[in-house]
Amino acid sequence: MSKFWSPLVEKLTPYVPGEQPKMANLVKLNTNENPFGPSPKVIEAITAELGDNLRLYPDPEGEALKGTIAQYYSVEKEQIFLGNGSDEVLAHIFYGLFQHGEPVLYPDITYSFYPVYCGLYNIEGKTVPLTDSFEINPEDYRQPNGGIIFPNPNAPTGCYLALDKVEAIVAANPDRVVVVDEAYVDFGGESAIGLVGKYPNLLVCQTLSKARSLAGLRVGFAVGSAELIEALNRVKNSFNSYPLDRLALAGARAAFEDDDWFRATCEGVIGEREWVASRLEELGFEVLPSKANFIFARHPEHTGEALAKGLREQGVIVRHFNKPRISDFLRITTGTADQNKRLIECLEALV
Ligand SMILES: *Cc1c(COP(=O)(O)O)cnc(C)c1O
Repeated sequence: MSKFWSPLVEKLTPYVPGEQPKMANLVKLNTNENPFGPSPKVIEAITAELGDNLRLYPDPEGEALKGTIAQYYSVEKEQIFLGNGSDEVLAHIFYGLFQHGEPVLYPDITYSFYPVYCGLYNIEGKTVPLTDSFEINPEDYRQPNGGIIFPNPNAPTGCYLALDKVEAIVAANPDRVVVVDEAYVDFGGESAIGLVGKYPNLLVCQTLSKARSLAGLRVGFAVGSAELIEALNRVKNSFNSYPLDRLALAGARAAFEDDDWFRATCEGVIGEREWVASRLEELGFEVLPSKANFIFARHPEHTGEALAKGLREQGVIVRHFNKPRISDFLRITTGTADQNKRLIECLEALV
């Protein structure tokens, strides 16, 4: 504690991002980045934007990008909110839509940024346990709350909740905002964006970091009723008027315009994921059904800690969470075919 700090800072528990090691030749399967690069058209668009224009501020509202996304999902521009990565979008959601004096509900095993935002804004968070098979049970979300948030597919489990069950949670909570964090939805799930016209309390959050391979560009967005989006705009314009820079706006548009690249790379990831899943099962792992770009798996005879350490000694980095219920699991990002082969060879040596 420093006398210069605001008292709240002393109590903050910040999010710990997966490490970005500097060593060469690593097989880096720990932060769910896309093994395929972004579309070449994204690089072209960013390159074209690089110039004297950078002395000018970007469009604070990102109108052109909103137009592209609105067209892509058949919604109105007023139903879209843009942020500097979906993490920033989520922060504004917690601030602008979740402060109602009742606990915000999220699964006990989920994206660990949610409790961090609760801490930042002094919001009470309440965890709702996943079932024994690590699934979300909609019935468990029928209780008083100040808002509900969960990823679909969930992270770090990869488990997908069918859209009718998502809808059941939204319909059961008409007076509260239900946020579906769809960071991984393009790897085999179905988006809830199609339901936002029907439910003014539904907000869907997405990112270009995973399926569109642009984690380094920092672009995320939310889609919902104009009423919800207006709250987020007020928060954003009280915080940072220009969250997306010129390069990000140009690159993100190009990413949506190159749908062929998007589809082909998503299919590539899905194919590799399924290959890794079957190899892991052959090695005796229990593999949760994944619709994400990662796999969550445990071995009955080896601890998660030992496996993560053994892999690291062979230059393969995966994510291990030292948390209740999941401490024996490894979260393994789907890599390139070569990386995945290395992973399996290293695990064969360990189990
Ligand atoms: C990666 C991830 C995000 C954050 O994405 P950014 O747009 O890179 O900030 C949000 N939610 C979940 C569940 C994620 O896994």
